[in-house]
Amino acid sequence: MPELPEVETVARDLRPLLAGRKVVAFWVGEAKLRRPWKRSWSGLMAGLRFGEVRRRGKWLMLPLESRKPTAVAGTLLVHLGMTGQFTVVPADDPWADHTHFVFFLDNQTHLRFRDIRRFGSVEWFPAGQDVDNHLGEKLGPEPLDIPAAPFAEAMRRSKRTLKAILLDQAVVAGVGNIYADEALFRAGLHPKRRGHTLTAAECDRLRTAIETVIARAIESRGSTIRDYVGGSGLRGGFQNEFAVYGRTGEKCVTCAGGIERVVVSGRSSHFCPVCQPAGG
Ligand SMILES: [Zn+2]
Repeated sequence: MPELPEVETVARDLRPLLAGRKVVAFWVGEAKLRRPWKRSWSGLMAGLRFGEVRRRGKWLMLPLESRKPTAVAGTLLVHLGMTGQFTVVPADDPWADHTHFVFFLDNQTHLRFRDIRRFGSVEWFPAGQDVDNHLGEKLGPEPLDIPAAPFAEAMRRSKRTLKAILLDQAVVAGVGNIYADEALFRAGLHPKRRGHTLTAAECDRLRTAIETVIARAIESRGSTIRDYVGGSGLRGGFQNEFAVYGRTGEKCVTCAGGIERVVVSGRSSHFCPVCQPAGG
């Protein structure tokens, strides 16, 4: 599933490809995605121009502007779900299976949304419906900018496992299974440790580890496990740098012991039992 580094890569790729581009035609398929596209929205798209693509947590926001008068008409809110691909391609590229949306642009390119498992979504927020507020209600701070005191407080208050806390989008936005495991390894903390058992130093270590892992993954254009590609169709590279994720039975990069897998909060967690001791 795309997490923040993957979605950030899509945003960075799409930004220059879409800025100022006009939608000349629009097509939407019949298959239902996780959240519905209303039929009445389809007629609004042609004639609008893309503004600057933004990202918040794992969500993409694509503002669209009308020309006369120049005003924001609304914002497309996009989630890639598990297998979503959101790319700008030449108009004559063959349409792949599972293509659900096509925005025909004024320079012989298409913005296409493809999603095999259909856990993704594309929604329209007309100007006046505040999409930032809509997201802000459920999303915590961005992982590259985590305020130290509220993060420590969230840990102190929680009897949940660290894995569950890191997956909670209200604590830190955009972290999923891969980067939670990688951050816990880097911080030397077992995924089953409880939030309230962390010392102040361990809290700081975890917060810094999240920032470091996410920043490094963005530099590598995210991780491609199965279907993920960036907005220009290129795969990610961070999967080659995983210390623990998906490496069950392989050697720990630090101590050469074996990486183990355990299910925490219903999710597979990969960790080194030596570098991430259960106690503490
Ligand atoms: Zn180790």
